[in-house]
Amino acid sequence: MEQLFNEPVDRLKGVGEKRKEALEKLEIKTIWNLLTYFPFRYEDLTVQEIESIEDRQKVVLQGLVLSPAHVQYFGRRKSRLSFRIKVDYAIIPITFFNQPYLARQIEEGATLKVFGTWDAARKQLSGIKIIGGSTANENEKFEPIYHSTKDISHTVIKKLVKQSWDLYHQELQELIPLDLIKKYHLLPLKEAIFNMHFPETEAIMDTARETIVFTEFFIFQIQAQYRRMLHKNIGKGRATHYQLERLQDFFASLPFELTGAQKKVVNTISADMKRPIQMYRLLQGDVGSGKTVVAAGAIVAAQSAGLQSAFMAPTEILAEQHYLSLQEFFQSFNIRVELLTGSTKTKARRELLEDLIRGKIDILVGTHALIQEDVMFNDLSLIIIDEQHRFGVKQRAALRKKGNDPDVLFMTATPIPRTLSMTAYGEMDVSVINELPAGRKPIETHWIRKKSLASLMKELARELENESQAYIISPLIEESDLMDLENAEELFEEYSKIFAPNYEVALLHGRMPSEEKDQIMSAFKDHKIDILISTTVIEVGVDVPNATMMIIHDADRFGLAQLHQLRGRVGRGQKQSKCVLVADPKGESGIERMKIMTETTDGFKISEKDLEMRGPGEFFGKRQSGLPEFKVADIVEDALVLEAARYEAEKILRDQKFLRDDNYLMVRSLVGIEDGKISDILD
Ligand code: ADP
Ligand code: MG
Repeated sequence: MEQLFNEPVDRLKGVGEKRKEALEKLEIKTIWNLLTYFPFRYEDLTVQEIESIEDRQKVVLQGLVLSPAHVQYFGRRKSRLSFRIKVDYAIIPITFFNQPYLARQIEEGATLKVFGTWDAARKQLSGIKIIGGSTANENEKFEPIYHSTKDISHTVIKKLVKQSWDLYHQELQELIPLDLIKKYHLLPLKEAIFNMHFPETEAIMDTARETIVFTEFFIFQIQAQYRRMLHKNIGKGRATHYQLERLQDFFASLPFELTGAQKKVVNTISADMKRPIQMYRLLQGDVGSGKTVVAAGAIVAAQSAGLQSAFMAPTEILAEQHYLSLQEFFQSFNIRVELLTGSTKTKARRELLEDLIRGKIDILVGTHALIQEDVMFNDLSLIIIDEQHRFGVKQRAALRKKGNDPDVLFMTATPIPRTLSMTAYGEMDVSVINELPAGRKPIETHWIRKKSLASLMKELARELENESQAYIISPLIEESDLMDLENAEELFEEYSKIFAPNYEVALLHGRMPSEEKDQIMSAFKDHKIDILISTTVIEVGVDVPNATMMIIHDADRFGLAQLHQLRGRVGRGQKQSKCVLVADPKGESGIERMKIMTETTDGFKISEKDLEMRGPGEFFGKRQSGLPEFKVADIVEDALVLEAARYEAEKILRDQKFLRDDNYLMVRSLVGIEDGKISDILD
């Protein structure tokens, strides 16, 4: 097996430098890559009865050739080849365009199989290929079709796959334990791979696919769960001996009672911290669900054990906001909070860093500035990362390295369906706050057509008269942010025409330097701006309680999850908030999205719908999805298999025999365990 993983494709006959390069572009470098380069569809080559064929259907007919092929040329390149075959009692004309060379294969009186498109009205076949010719073999029932490029054809790939199979299939070994193959009625890997490429029946094709799907998920889950286990490896993490009483005092001091969901998460996090493991937990909760106060609790716990915490947010404005709310939370608790960002002045920064390393600061809040080399803690034991997906893996790791096996709490306001979080965040423990504090006024959401814009402007005018502020979101154009900008500028002019100079109208977009963005956002927060026209760059977590209205133009261009994120920027104060979707959706799906938005404010429901409607690739947006790529498996359609694979992976890793039993040999090598020694794959 190892050999297959390493054997380069140019060992095959017919693979020279050029083909090697062409294959490399398809990410095929080894024999294993080639054997697992599965077809994306199959052509059904079973011979059909004429009566049962529908118009335009692609079929195979078999019959006696009645006449030699007649080739007619049109100009130099174009040609039409025609002949007739007898199928049962019917005489069927067949034409091939621009493949004059096929004439050689058409022999009067011979039996021939032809694949083509059926024309039911004329009862004739437009030929695509002759079976038994260069691509499809005589006995093939389903022809595998591979993704190809202009540098390497489907036919060549097919031949190379066949060659690899013939030469190397003996080497294939099981990847998943035998008892699982039995339990889930899967095929042995060898058979599964064979039948993915050369299936004889639809039934075996399906079982082969199921086997590959399970295998992909299983390998992924073993790796993810193994990482998760390493995080928790006893001896690697440390126990935080916090003072329970102080934690209780803290929660008692709040002007509100925690929601049930918050309490549960607080208990889970304290339990993590108390155990001698490294916490590696993701906290998901809608905007406003109260994640910050939960994080504050964890900070109190750490501080009561004499340990330091760090809290990293993606922008200055968010960092500052967290800094201010923590200060307020900790007013009477003698916990020293400091803020470090790119704008911290040199002298203040120097003093701050000195206090930090001496352990005089309990919690340091900041931006990426926290991971600069000269930022050193005395004893950092808790790290909180807000909007974690905004940071790269390296940045998150850099902060962790500043601590002594610190506990890590990631936070995100993007609710993610369970199947997705199992894959995207397979290596983390996931907690959810799925309940908003009592007494929140849910945001009213309306959907209007563009023709009703005038009355919407009157409504906006009334809100402004009441001293409220508004966000106007400009539509999203996928092609470039330059076009987004043009859109936003246009809206800016339109709104200015109506509302300036009585009201302050400002524009915020992605092409501005981040300081300028922060400045505008601060001005909006301080109510120096009444109407903020923006692309989608406005921050998720920014609190502007006085902003009570959001208008989203061409709302049907956004995905559900994104609309929900945007909407969460209003509804943060005492006043009733509104979100108006302006859209004339063209298709069914646009209409459905608008309806869902007006019907529910539950982020998890919305994200489930979004995943259903758009699929996982689109869900996170194209940029850095953080999702593993599966060749065959689909995390939405194969969600049940994913659950099963996760369950089995967890069970195996917990098994005492895992490090010894031969049944797990392959699994061990998949996660890099050799001879019972665990190589640390984390750092
Ligand atoms: P998130 O970070 O999840 O978006 P925050 O932690 O910023 O939410 O909380 C939003 C607001 O709700 C804050 O002003 C916070 O003090 C308040 N809050 C948090 N939990 C509760 C609660 N259980 N009851 C009432 N208000 C709460
Ligand atoms: Mg927040």
